[in-house]
Amino acid sequence: MLELSTPIKFVKRVGERVAEALAKRGVETVEDLLYHLPFRYEDRLNPMPISQLKAGAMASIIGEVRGSVLLRTRSMPIFEMTVGQGLDTVKCMWFHGSYLKDRFKAGQMVALYGKLEASRSSVGKFKMIQPQFEILPGSDSAEAEFVSLEVGRIVPVYEFLGGTTAWGAKLTSRWLRRVVWGLLEELKGSESGVAETLPAAMLERLGLPGRLDALHAVHFPEAGTPVAELMSASTPAHKRLIFEELFYLELGLELKRRRLREREGTAFATDERVRKALKQILPFHPTAAQKRVLGEIAADMRKPQPMRRLLQGDVGSGKTIVAMQAALVAIENGYQAALMAPTEILATQHYLSARKLLGDAISPRTGRPYRVTLLTGSLDDAAKREVRGRIYRGETELAIGTHALIEEKVDFDNLGLVIVDEQHRFGVQQRFRLMRKPGADGRSAEPDVLVMTATPIPRTLALTLYGDLETSVIDELPPGRTPVVTRRTTEERAEDVWAFVRKHVAAGQQAYIVYPVIEGAKDDQPELDFAPDEDGEQDAAAEKKAAPSTPLRSSRDDTSSKQKKTTKAAKAEKLFAPRRALRAATDMYEELRASALAGLRLGLLHGRLSSDDKEVVMRRFQRGEIDVLIATTVIEVGVDVPNASVMVIEHAERFGLAQMHQLRGRVGRGAAKSYCILMTGGRVSEAAEARLDAMVATQNGFELAELDLEQRGPGEFFGTRQAGMPEFRVANLLRDRAVLELAKAEATRFAQHPDSAMTKEERDAVWARLKQQWQRRYGLVEA
Ligand code: ADP
Ligand code: MG
Repeated sequence: MLELSTPIKFVKRVGERVAEALAKRGVETVEDLLYHLPFRYEDRLNPMPISQLKAGAMASIIGEVRGSVLLRTRSMPIFEMTVGQGLDTVKCMWFHGSYLKDRFKAGQMVALYGKLEASRSSVGKFKMIQPQFEILPGSDSAEAEFVSLEVGRIVPVYEFLGGTTAWGAKLTSRWLRRVVWGLLEELKGSESGVAETLPAAMLERLGLPGRLDALHAVHFPEAGTPVAELMSASTPAHKRLIFEELFYLELGLELKRRRLREREGTAFATDERVRKALKQILPFHPTAAQKRVLGEIAADMRKPQPMRRLLQGDVGSGKTIVAMQAALVAIENGYQAALMAPTEILATQHYLSARKLLGDAISPRTGRPYRVTLLTGSLDDAAKREVRGRIYRGETELAIGTHALIEEKVDFDNLGLVIVDEQHRFGVQQRFRLMRKPGADGRSAEPDVLVMTATPIPRTLALTLYGDLETSVIDELPPGRTPVVTRRTTEERAEDVWAFVRKHVAAGQQAYIVYPVIEGAKDDQPELDFAPDEDGEQDAAAEKKAAPSTPLRSSRDDTSSKQKKTTKAAKAEKLFAPRRALRAATDMYEELRASALAGLRLGLLHGRLSSDDKEVVMRRFQRGEIDVLIATTVIEVGVDVPNASVMVIEHAERFGLAQMHQLRGRVGRGAAKSYCILMTGGRVSEAAEARLDAMVATQNGFELAELDLEQRGPGEFFGTRQAGMPEFRVANLLRDRAVLELAKAEATRFAQHPDSAMTKEERDAVWARLKQQWQRRYGLVEA
């Protein structure tokens, strides 16, 4: 008997070989395959006549093959085919199209999907370049059984899952339709086939269909379903499946938060003495937002459960002082605090800030100055051992270092608070438990954890990726900041830019000039972390716009992967064209020093310098002994030199939005009016154009973050794929915000108030399913 959990290899038409291929894409069971939803639909019931179509849009067309020809041009073979409806015709072209030579016969009906363009050669007619196609079965077809899946209905089109049939043909949408149709038919007839996963009362209240109905309707929509709703995954059937996935995610996060509340932490006191200690380190009046978030943090720290809090604040909003004050709460209670940063430069920078803030302060508790230690990779082994020893013996109150250094090798005497600056929060939490010697009484409470980020996190991500943390937001900048004036210009106007820099240096200001790479014409450069060459992304962008429901995966459909091959071939040809070299930090340092900025004191900072050298350069820039710092993105986060008021970013077309925003955040920190100059030098893609425009238009980190998320997708948003982002089967965070909010509300409601309309069996089934899902999907073993 077929069930959702049946391994896919037992399904008709699949078998061992195909099952292996599908497993690579995470499709192992019947359920997995059914949740591989169509990424678009073609209305072959009421297809648009060609005469009603407009150039410029994606279109699906059904027509008759009128004729075809393989043109052998000098550069490549091109396959041309004319498809017609009565007097109207569309000319289709496939580059490197020899493989299509014998595929079509005149009189066949075909379905085409692609971008419709006006054809210059014949007025009033259209052409399609490399459309996707399907040859429709004729009524005399040997496979008449399946004709109804291909024509005269709204037809699902699937993303290619890999794999071939026994005779080597790709597993196309057509193949998937047949398999999925077969599965649905069989499940419909079976008793135990598709268990409902959501309580009936919930479905009814939300107006969502049952599970099997929903699956049926997303794969084979009923006639009359609006195609636009299908394409945007907003039919009730889609919503139901998306809701199901997000509900279980949010319920899992809710469960995690609850479990945390049962764990043992430290209840720190925040009495008068502690408050006095916090006050005495303040170099300025905190903003209302800083006060509020400190209050939220202190309230968490007073509780006997471990704190798990995310502190968000745009660049320059003043997170450092808040972090230092939180550290003091722990320290004044007799505990140690650790501050972990992603890079050595940043760790060093934090160390310098800490020294500055705590430098002359005397701890009311001990009557002695605070002891702050920096643990960097550049210390030799003996020195490292010595520092670790001090931390272990409790001879330092605040240990600052990079994540790797502190996480892996340090045992604390009595660690009370861990502050994690920027990113990297996953995989570290479990180890905090181990970082501390068990107390004299044998118990070992967990330290509090405060994660700080200057990357404004769009709400959808905050609700998922960071969903198990409480959040605090500093939504106000310190007083006296003027917005950074942001302008775009091009390399051709470099002389004006250098003159501008000279002028500001003459007025006593400092400047940054940032490059995407350290050295020109070499490959293995650590700072080469900008978006890869964006050639061809326009096609991809066009496609994305047309099919907003496209999941964030790779290849699509049978025909589109062929299309990909040809663009690759075109790209290979392009490689032989001379490429303009990128301007690089080291080269430009020499060049500017010798010419445009001669006479100014220049410094060079990049990731290849030893940590000692980095520190020397940073200190000199901080002390004003360097006028212009030529750097790579190593200065992206954290660097704080209020006297710097000009930020020049060369090859700005190469930088991601988050990076540019961070870089711009290095200026505008002091009293002087500040400037950010985005210089482009090379082809500016459509996406880069949008990024640059957004930078000029706004300084609101949250707005930029939303755009960044849209451009790069959740997986890349934090600059790393392993940011712990759950993989969704049907949900798409960019598209399904409303459903996510609903799922979150429903999950909280479900966990908190037993609903009298639900039976105990239903509730138990939900919890059981959650455990099973989290184990399988996220690998989180729940105790
Ligand atoms: P970020 O949130 O980016 O880490 P910082 O903590 O580095 O920001 O603060 C940016 C700058 O603003 C620093 O020079 C800091 O001393 C200053 N600053 C922070 N808070 C205030 C405040 N309330 N009043 C005046 N200056 C402040
Ligand atoms: Mg900071």
